[in-house]
Amino acid sequence: MLPFFNKSHFNFVLFINHKLRLMKVLVTRFIVFILIIIASIHLYQEEHSLKNKHWTYEGETAPEHWAEIEKDSDCNGRNQSPINIVEINTQLVEKAKDDLNIHYSPFTFINSVVNNGHSIQFNFERGDSLQYKNKVYHLAQIHFHEPAEHTINGIRYPLEIHLVHANEDNSYTVMAIVAKEGIESDIFEFLESFLPIEVNDEKTIHEPLDLTTLFPKDKSYFSYKGSLTTPPCSESVDWIIFKEPIIVSVEEVLKLKKNMPKDNYRNEQPLNDRIVELHLR
Ligand SMILES: [Zn+2]
Repeated sequence: MLPFFNKSHFNFVLFINHKLRLMKVLVTRFIVFILIIIASIHLYQEEHSLKNKHWTYEGETAPEHWAEIEKDSDCNGRNQSPINIVEINTQLVEKAKDDLNIHYSPFTFINSVVNNGHSIQFNFERGDSLQYKNKVYHLAQIHFHEPAEHTINGIRYPLEIHLVHANEDNSYTVMAIVAKEGIESDIFEFLESFLPIEVNDEKTIHEPLDLTTLFPKDKSYFSYKGSLTTPPCSESVDWIIFKEPIIVSVEEVLKLKKNMPKDNYRNEQPLNDRIVELHLR
C-alpha cells in the first residue's frame, strides 16, 4: 500500500529539509567562528607570555636565548662579555701608558644588600671611585657570579666578583676579581654575615667597608671593551680583570652559592676583532 501523500505534506517536507540544511550551515559557521576565537586567544597568550618571559640562567630563558627574549637588547652584539682571555694573545701595554687610578676610601659605606634573583648585590653609598682613560666612575655596587664568567687561559675559577662603576653618561667600568678556594677571607666573612637573604629582599647595612682589602696583591690586569653580562647586555663597559685570583674558603663560596641561582654565569662570547690588553704592575 502506498503511503498517503498529498501536496501540502510534500511542501512541508521540503520546508523541513530546507530548514535543516540552513541549520547545518549555521552550526558549521558557528563552529568555525569558535575555533578562530580559540586560536586567536591562544596566539595572543603565547605572544604575551613570550614578552613577559624574564631572563634566567636555565631552561628556555637561559643566556643562549637572551637575544630572543630581550628584543631591544644588545645581547646578540659583536662586543659582548664575558670572554675567554688567552694571555699569549694579549697586547702588553707599557707602564707609562697605564691610565687606571683607583681611589678607594676605608670609610665608604655599604648602603644595603639585595637578593635580586640573579645575584647577591651590595649597594654602596657615594665614596669609592676610579679614574680610567680620563673619565671618573663612581662605585655603585658589587655582586657575585658562581662560577666565574670570564675564563683566563681556559680556566674557570669558582667565583667572580664584579665591582660596577658608573659614569654620568651611563658608561661603565667594571673591575672583575676572580677567586680560588683556599683559606678564609676576612672581607668575605664580613659580607656574608648579612646572608642569608631571600629573593627580592633588601637589608639596610649602613656600615663602612675598606674594599681595598678585596684586591689581590698583584694589581696586574687585563682590559678590553665589552658589555654588561646580563640583559640588556649594553656594549658600554670597559672591563678590568685582575690577573691574580684572590683566595676565599670553600665554605664562603658555598654560602654565596646557596643564596644565588645555580650557575649564574653567562656563556663565553666571541672576541671578534677586539684586542685584550695586559697591564703589568
Ligand atoms: Zn656581573
